[in-house]
Amino acid sequence: MVLLLDNYVDGLALEPRETGRLEVFNPARDTVICEIPDSSADTVDRAVAAAKAAQPAWKRLPAIQRAAALRKISGRIRENADRIARVISEEQGKPLPLATLEANFTAEYLDYMAEWARRIEGEVISSDRPGETVLLLRQPIGVVAGILPWNFPFFLIARKLGPALITGNTIVIKPSEETPHNAALFVELLQGLDLPRGVINFVHGSGRTTGEALSRHPDVGLISFTGSVPTGSRIMANAAANITKVNLELGGKAPAIVLGDADIPAAIRNLAASRVLNSGQLCNCPERLYVERKVADEFVSGLANAMKATRYGDPLGDSEIDMGPLINRAGLDKVRKLVDSALSEGAEVVTGGKVADLGTGNYFEPTVLLNVQQNSPIMRQEIFGPVLPVNIVDSLDEAIERANDSEFGLTSSIFTRDLASAFRACNELEFGETYVNRDHFEAMQGFHAGTKKSGIGGADGKHGLYEYTMTHVSYIQN
Ligand code: NAD
Repeated sequence: MVLLLDNYVDGLALEPRETGRLEVFNPARDTVICEIPDSSADTVDRAVAAAKAAQPAWKRLPAIQRAAALRKISGRIRENADRIARVISEEQGKPLPLATLEANFTAEYLDYMAEWARRIEGEVISSDRPGETVLLLRQPIGVVAGILPWNFPFFLIARKLGPALITGNTIVIKPSEETPHNAALFVELLQGLDLPRGVINFVHGSGRTTGEALSRHPDVGLISFTGSVPTGSRIMANAAANITKVNLELGGKAPAIVLGDADIPAAIRNLAASRVLNSGQLCNCPERLYVERKVADEFVSGLANAMKATRYGDPLGDSEIDMGPLINRAGLDKVRKLVDSALSEGAEVVTGGKVADLGTGNYFEPTVLLNVQQNSPIMRQEIFGPVLPVNIVDSLDEAIERANDSEFGLTSSIFTRDLASAFRACNELEFGETYVNRDHFEAMQGFHAGTKKSGIGGADGKHGLYEYTMTHVSYIQN
């Protein structure tokens, strides 16, 4: 019999009463791992009610006690990192070393958020009236709904839960229907930690049923969503009905610029590694390259060799791999269609270019395409696969102009030895983040945020933390 995952509401496993069920697949083996309930509005209502009831007492706890709860969770995660990694690999498809990194990074992130306990600061401002104090305090918003994608399913739980809980909110999380087993394991690790009931709740289901009910719920104070632009737009419309605050971390179409004075071997190493990491299924890794003509031949052939050397296969079956499968058949079809359409418009394959048949699983060959038209769908839409379209440019001006010609604005990169060019790119690229001479990872003390259609608000660091607060002002007359 296939394992059916429970919801987790008010500190208890809530046995699914829903008739609708969804199957969860291993993307390397095409086998069913488990099933989840397609949780109804009723179940969502119970979870939000539990979070709402728990919030006043949670808010009253000193932040240092809330931090202690986060540290208990991070301790459990560290003790179970190997087991967590196997579940991530089985369900999401990333290689075990990367999944282990994800598990440990999740613990580190919760510890980082716990450190904020003594630093949630307000302001005291002198008043225009005699004997009066104006006091601004950062207070929790209430119930946070965390709606998650599948690409870093375990870490993204912490990216919502950490800032929500340390600032005194409670949370209802809806994991992606592609990767719910991660969330079920997270719930299992909470057992025996003595956390107050209702502070953390999980509801499983599809976006259409469970996600809709959660994002329309009038008792949710903040919807913190990570996922695609169309879903973000839909969630924002749902939130509008209740004037609910939204924090949206959406898709990207990151440009990377390689100038003639760059350290070319380092640029190749970083860009190829970034593009095959998690099979290219990352919001912030390079999705299109602009390389200066004078180094184009050397760069493109080096990049093709690096991509060709990528080892791929079943994350739990093949020990030495750099890349696993794509998440599902629809993701694979999308990559294939984007590549085929670029080729029909005149792009050239330098390496790869087609679906890789390993018997089972959703694999696409690590691919480099050259001379892709700026208006081609592959230069406009998220590829979310191990494919790099490359274009040759004659100057930094041209590269910046083409890079900015996008409806997305999440991350961008530049490789150059010239400080002035690097600073110019940081100032003129219309993206929330710019990586200079490095890979695409953001830091937990930074601020991960997009402009244009890539989102509203952001995550991480002080600025990300404060997204989970409202500022209350008191005017106190002596
Ligand atoms: P998705 O938008 O399809 O789904 C994300 C979540 O939203 C899932 O839990 C889904 O069930 C839910 N959902 C779907 N329809 C909904 C609705 N109508 N109402 C409420 N919830 C609904 O995205 P995905 O395919 O899971 O993830 C890939 C996307 O996530 C990519 O676009 C990627 O760039 C983006 N992403 C962004 C960041 C970031 O930090 N900016 C990080 C990771 C992933």
